[in-house]
Amino acid sequence: MAEVLVLVEHVEGEVKKVTLELLTLARQLGAPSAVWAGPGYSEAAKAKLAEYGAEKVYVADGEEITGYVVAPKVALLAKLIGEKSPAGVLIAATPEGKEIAGRLAVRTDSGVITDAVGLGEGFVAEQSIFGGAINVRSRVTKGTPIIAVRPNATAPVAAQGAAAEERVEVALSDADKAARIVERVAQEKGARPELTEAAIVVAGGRGVGSAEGFGIIEKLADSLGGAVGASRAATDAGWYPHQFQVGQTGKTVSPQLYIAAGISGAIQHRAGMQTSKTIVVINKDPEAPIFEIADFGVVGDLHKVVPQLIEEIEKR
Ligand code: FAD
Repeated sequence: MAEVLVLVEHVEGEVKKVTLELLTLARQLGAPSAVWAGPGYSEAAKAKLAEYGAEKVYVADGEEITGYVVAPKVALLAKLIGEKSPAGVLIAATPEGKEIAGRLAVRTDSGVITDAVGLGEGFVAEQSIFGGAINVRSRVTKGTPIIAVRPNATAPVAAQGAAAEERVEVALSDADKAARIVERVAQEKGARPELTEAAIVVAGGRGVGSAEGFGIIEKLADSLGGAVGASRAATDAGWYPHQFQVGQTGKTVSPQLYIAAGISGAIQHRAGMQTSKTIVVINKDPEAPIFEIADFGVVGDLHKVVPQLIEEIEKR
């Protein structure tokens, strides 16, 4: 069975959930081989990759790979494509992942698809384009398919793999060393999951009414173990930090469940959340456009509905 390379996303040695999703997808396309680049590789990390079906783990955690931005990972993957002729390469569609995917495609003269929300036989990828107005299915026709897949495109399913370890040395060119990392600052880890990775997102908009109003949005998110998002109206008003903005000029999320409270559903907001698996809307205006994409809707005042919802969830 042909190999499918999966670039591992990891923070401080911890394998991120999106990698487990990519391994799950890769198993349907061939034999998954995880590619570890950077510091923090451990037996625990290897065991995690094996648990989700990695038959091989390529490891490049030397000085060279850790010291420069993006390019070493591209060089590593390009080398593996040259030597192993994999059936395809899967990368998480994070900002860094998409940059790696684009550069890798140029370097290996291959086609690339980014922001896939689904992936099936023959590496046919599903994307939602033009601000979510159109869904397309596409396939790479040149070189090695390089697909950047959004977090939550599938649920991770465990399946034991052999995880045979192979060390890889990468020789970097001067161009690869153009951007050196001078300092790493660990991001403050909140209690909530990262917005773009969360399986559940509870988002508030102008209808929330104030910064204090976001208290119930946070409480609902916490009762579900989810992340908090916000519309641009809410972030521009200073009610919630900009890093949590969902939409065209904010983050793109694709969770299993997206709860939109007090959000009208402008096209720019939809562009960032339309591919969510289940959309629940709470809005006092039955004509709000967001109801068009809702799986479940509640017409009502969120200040009454959300506390009742929290109460119900906490009873269970
Ligand atoms: P509104 O459109 O004002 O809607 C508020 C909703 O809350 C209404 O539907 C109302 O019925 C409801 N409501 C009010 N009170 C209550 C209550 N008590 N209970 C229940 N419901 C209530 N927007 C984004 O979100 N993300 C982006 O990334 C983004 N990028 C943009 C980029 C560009 C170039 C432009 C031009 C705009 C962008 N916007 C973006 C802005 C976008 O066009 C909308 O203005 C914005 O999404 C509106 O936010 P909202 O739905 O919270 O507010």
